[in-house]
Formats: sequence, structure tokens, C-alpha cells
Amino acid sequence: MQMGLSEDDFVNAVSDNLKCAICTEVFDDPVFTGGRPCQHVFCRSCIDRALERNRKCPTCRANVKKNDLQRNQLTQSLLDEQIVRCTISASCGWTGRLDARPAHMSCCPMAEMEVLRARLEAQQQTIVQYQANILDNSEKLLEQQLIIAQGADRKRELEMVNQQQCLEIEGHRRKIARLESDLLKMQTTVDREAAALAAEKEQERAQELLEQAEAYLATAKRKATIIRLGGDNKATKAMQVLVKDPSGRTITLDVQADDSIEYTKGELSSKTGIPGDIFYLVLSGKILQERKLVSDYQIPQETHIFMCLRSVSSSSENATNIVYLR
Ligand SMILES: [Zn+2]
Ligand SMILES: [Zn+2]
Ligand SMILES: [Zn+2]
Repeated sequence: MQMGLSEDDFVNAVSDNLKCAICTEVFDDPVFTGGRPCQHVFCRSCIDRALERNRKCPTCRANVKKNDLQRNQLTQSLLDEQIVRCTISASCGWTGRLDARPAHMSCCPMAEMEVLRARLEAQQQTIVQYQANILDNSEKLLEQQLIIAQGADRKRELEMVNQQQCLEIEGHRRKIARLESDLLKMQTTVDREAAALAAEKEQERAQELLEQAEAYLATAKRKATIIRLGGDNKATKAMQVLVKDPSGRTITLDVQADDSIEYTKGELSSKTGIPGDIFYLVLSGKILQERKLVSDYQIPQETHIFMCLRSVSSSSENATNIVYLR
């Protein structure tokens, strides 16, 4: 709100006659009604505002119209003579008449400085703002660096785990290779042993066949001899032998002289139901050999041949374990 001039701007004390009754300051653009209805003087802005509320002179209560107001030239002249200071800056040393002040203000050397100072202040504020921004950004940067550092840590950690796993895989690979190598060696050994075993079996089987063949050859030779010596079929003639089975029963068996003992045992097996491989035949304390013929043994009339069961735990060669059953 515009009011009068401050007394502080004046170099000397100002008379109360040059002060407004409304604002109590030194008149600024003093006006009055020219004596109709009163002579009271006020600042133009002060009386304008007062008349908007009440159309009376604030001092004498006379009716006042805004259009009646006119400049008080005498008061203005007295004011213009007053010595004032520059209002641009307290540091400006200029003083002069009030009516000369506008001219000074337009070229006050401090004005430019004030402008510069204002600009400097603005720039300082900008700098402060920038510094605050920089600080803020630094904090954000620090946070991001922290996040990056954490990421790097995590990455390093993962790399270490990865390296560890690679080492483990490599270890497993080496172990597998070693096991495969061992397996190959074992396979080779097994193959070699199997081949050796097979060869051994083959040899045993060949030996067996050879023995069998020799036995058949011997039998055939004997048969041939019997036939040659006998000249007829007497030697192959049927005869009867008496056999005691393990339960003591006597079996009368018809045999041919050229029947083998093995064949004879087969006949007894079919009569008694006892398998041939669990018994052997004994005549007068001697075991009858399966590969021999009945004619190889002199079997007296009325003499019993015994069927003896093999002892479970012993072999046929172990004569002390022979059990005679009658
Ligand atoms: Zn005033
Ligand atoms: Zn008045
Ligand atoms: Zn100045």
C-alpha cells in the first residue's frame, strides 16, 4: 500500500507541517480541495483510499469529492527544497534536493552495483541449489556404487562357486576315466581267464572222450577175442546171476556174457528203481568195473552179487566206506 515518504530518506528533520495526517509520513504528491470546503493537505494515495470509505475530510469532517482534489503546489515546492539521500543504496553517498533525486536515480553508480549484487545473490542461490543437487546426486551415486559393488561381490561369489563346480566336474571326469580304465583291465583279465577256463574244460572233455573211446575200443577188442576164441555164440549165451538189492531181496537177472557191467547196472536200475549212479556192484569183496564185461569176471553159480549204495560223503574209490546190505 503506497503511503508518504519516509523521514529517514531526508538528511534533516522534517517539519510536521510537511507530514500527512493519515499516514504520519512526509507528503508524497500532496493534494487538497483548494479551500472548498477545507484547506487540509494529504498524500494523494492516502486521501483517495480514505474517501472510498467515507466522503469526508479525515481531519475536519467536511464533505469532500474526489474530483475536487488538486495538487498543493506550495507544499510540493517546500518538499522539493528538502535535501534527501539516494534510496537505491545506503552505500551511495549522494544527497540533493528531492526534485533532483529522479535524475540521480537514473544514473546512480550504485544502481548498477545493486543490479550486479542482486545478480550475484541470485547466482549464489543458484550455486547453493547446484551444490545441494550435487550433494544429492553424490549420495545417489554412492548408493549406486554400493549396489554395483554388491553386484560385483555377488558376481565374484558366483564365479568362485562356478570354478569350484568346474573343479569337481573335472575330478569326477578323472575318476570316471580311471574307473573305465580299471574296468577295461578287469574285462581283459576276465576274458583271458574265461578263455583259459574254456580251454581247460575243452581239454578235460577231450580227455574224457578219449578215455571213453579207449574203453569202447578195449570192450570191442575183448568182444572180438571172445567171438574169435569161441567160434560160436556160446560166449554170448544167456546166463543167470543172483543179485542182492540194498533191502536184501534177491533178484535173478538174465545177462549175456558180453554185456558190460554198466549195462547190467542199467537193468538192475530198471528193476529196483535205484539210479545207477548211487550204487555199485560187489562180487566176493571186489568192485565190478563198469567198463568191463560180465565175461571178464568168473561169476560162480549160487554166488550173490551185492548192490551197494554209495556213501553220500565219499567217492567210489573209498573202499572203507562201502556199506554191504544183505
Ligand atoms: Zn499520507
Ligand atoms: Zn478538512
Ligand atoms: Zn544514488
